[in-house]
Amino acid sequence: MRSLLAVGALVFIAAVPADAQVQCEAQGVSLQVLGSGGPRAGTERASASYLVWIDGEARVMIDVGGGAFVRFGEAGASLATLDLIGISHFHPDHVTDLAGLLWLSDLARQDPLRISGPSGNGAFPSLDEHLLQLFDATTGAFRVLSGTLGGPGRGAPLEPNTVDVAVPDPVTVLDLPGLTVQALSVPHTNSPALAYRVESGGASIVFSSDQTGTDPRFIAFSRGVDLLVMHMAIPVGSTGPILDVHAAPARVGEIARDAGVGRLVLSHLLPGDAPLAQAVAEVQRRYRGTLDAASDLDCFRVG
Ligand SMILES: [Zn+2]
Ligand SMILES: [Zn+2]
Repeated sequence: MRSLLAVGALVFIAAVPADAQVQCEAQGVSLQVLGSGGPRAGTERASASYLVWIDGEARVMIDVGGGAFVRFGEAGASLATLDLIGISHFHPDHVTDLAGLLWLSDLARQDPLRISGPSGNGAFPSLDEHLLQLFDATTGAFRVLSGTLGGPGRGAPLEPNTVDVAVPDPVTVLDLPGLTVQALSVPHTNSPALAYRVESGGASIVFSSDQTGTDPRFIAFSRGVDLLVMHMAIPVGSTGPILDVHAAPARVGEIARDAGVGRLVLSHLLPGDAPLAQAVAEVQRRYRGTLDAASDLDCFRVG
């Protein structure tokens, strides 16, 4: 794994031993990056996935992209402490390790595990449809895991919450003492998609999902947040239809600036050091706050 840290106008790229683990702090709120990559396979980055740790327990997981399964284990996380799995959208790089993660989850817990995700359209399933496609007791690909949906198979029971992306305002998907999570619909080509905002003990984190960065409601949703995880998936100079899918680096910087975020963590990163360094520099021309380009297993104290 490699760690790319951007400070001021300088960009440092430092090698990190492959067996290094970054343990999140035992107290307070931390963000851990399980997967800092996107759809292309490489040697260093799993696909999108994140954990929010509170007082030494992994409580919220956002996305379960390819590689999240092994990173979850490397992070020392447990299904027993999770209160929510939030799925941003159903592009494969955000959800393909879900079944693997939940296999034998009934050994870790018996109480229901909440899971949230977007509603569907003609091109993408809703969360409910996706879970049936995976785990339905008679038609699911992994019917062996039908216990997740109340069937006779294995798996801790899931408590699905499908968020209607037509709702223009944030929707609360988790409301516990000291921990709340809201979801907001964001534009991402034809894929219904959700950003998430996690609040705990005065600390706040927003996860952007893949998105174009063109909806001002997302800036309001991120306003004043301690830490914004923003996906930066396309290089400087991108034009044309890709801008209906992802925000260009300049737009990423504008969003962080306009939302007044305390810290910006860039993720879902481009392959190759040179395009990434160029994109980070483009972000820094707009956003002057604390900025990091994520590596897998990085931990960031929040609040
Ligand atoms: Zn993606
Ligand atoms: Zn996507």
